[in-house]
Amino acid sequence: MALEFTVTERPDRVSDEDRAAILANPGFGNHFTDHMVRITWDSEAGWHDAEVGAYRPFQLDPAAAVLHYAQEIFEGMKAYRHADGSVWTFRPEANAARFARSATRLALPVLPEEDFIQSLKEIVALDKVWVPDAANGGEESLYLRPYMFASEAFLGVRPAKQVTYSVIASPAGAYFGGGGVKPVDLWISTDYARAGEGGTGGAKCGGNYASSLAGQLEGIAQGCQQAVFLDSSTHTYIEELGGMNLFLVYQDGRIVTPELTGTILEGVTRSSILSLAKDLGLSPEERRIPIQEWKDAAASGELSEVFACGTAAVVTPVGELRWDGGSCDHRREGHVDEVATKIRSTLLDIQYGRVEDTHGWLTQL
Ligand code: PMP
Repeated sequence: MALEFTVTERPDRVSDEDRAAILANPGFGNHFTDHMVRITWDSEAGWHDAEVGAYRPFQLDPAAAVLHYAQEIFEGMKAYRHADGSVWTFRPEANAARFARSATRLALPVLPEEDFIQSLKEIVALDKVWVPDAANGGEESLYLRPYMFASEAFLGVRPAKQVTYSVIASPAGAYFGGGGVKPVDLWISTDYARAGEGGTGGAKCGGNYASSLAGQLEGIAQGCQQAVFLDSSTHTYIEELGGMNLFLVYQDGRIVTPELTGTILEGVTRSSILSLAKDLGLSPEERRIPIQEWKDAAASGELSEVFACGTAAVVTPVGELRWDGGSCDHRREGHVDEVATKIRSTLLDIQYGRVEDTHGWLTQL
């Protein structure tokens, strides 16, 4: 049976003036809306006490298991305002399904899809004024962050018997600011892996992000914006970035992304692009891609574009690839990221309701 949410509207909302100032320049992940969702689970009663109320800190026992053993998962999605003022989200069933897979991998309870989607509707119903107006094609949105963690106070290592689910929301500006889409340079991380076989790479759990940071720092020290991680056992195959999937586009129309081996996160953007690519007359492939193939195809000129994709930045072209002792760049004189640009605008047009949603990807919040 679906959960019933108790709704408690806060009396002390952020003023219209302060909110307008935040929405004028929100950045990413800096500001939070007036409300949040909380649902409690325990091993006896299951899911209960679903509520949406004031955004406020948690009271956590210092022994809360999440603080010690990182039993935690999350999701990332967006609410988009359409030109008629209505608010929509993109493929929430896919995020609900991934959240359920992550929960199972981290030995957390599964929140049913209908409760997951309802929790998004509940917070957006109270915080609709925080969904930016992107009528001028500005790409602003309200980022939604569902998450779940072990809140039981217990220091033994076993799945927690008390768990908290929550959703917070944060207005997000256009990822690339005003200056158009900028390519990112990537560093091949060989000292660090993000995930290993049989590990949690396919789950969206906090620990994966903690373990990606050292590789990310190494990349930044090498003058790149992001690190690309390889498979941990052979250091041969491309996996993904710390927070985005990758696509290689060839001159002959092939568009290739690493296959899902269990160590890669199955991005909702990735799977949407695999569908859109066919509509755009490209030939999508999912397979293992040796990093050497990228270097060789960049040198021969067969590789026309590389791009990264994810909810936050949608599609980001990749510039240079660097590694210890070398670098390569597929961009020649007069290079344009034609496929990345086309896919990016196609996705944004669907998300912002500027074209018909022929795939049935939108849900009204
Ligand atoms: N890989 C990782 C590691 C990520 O964190 C994300 C962002 N969720 C992605 C890929 C892209 O996934 P999505 O398209 O669902 O945002």
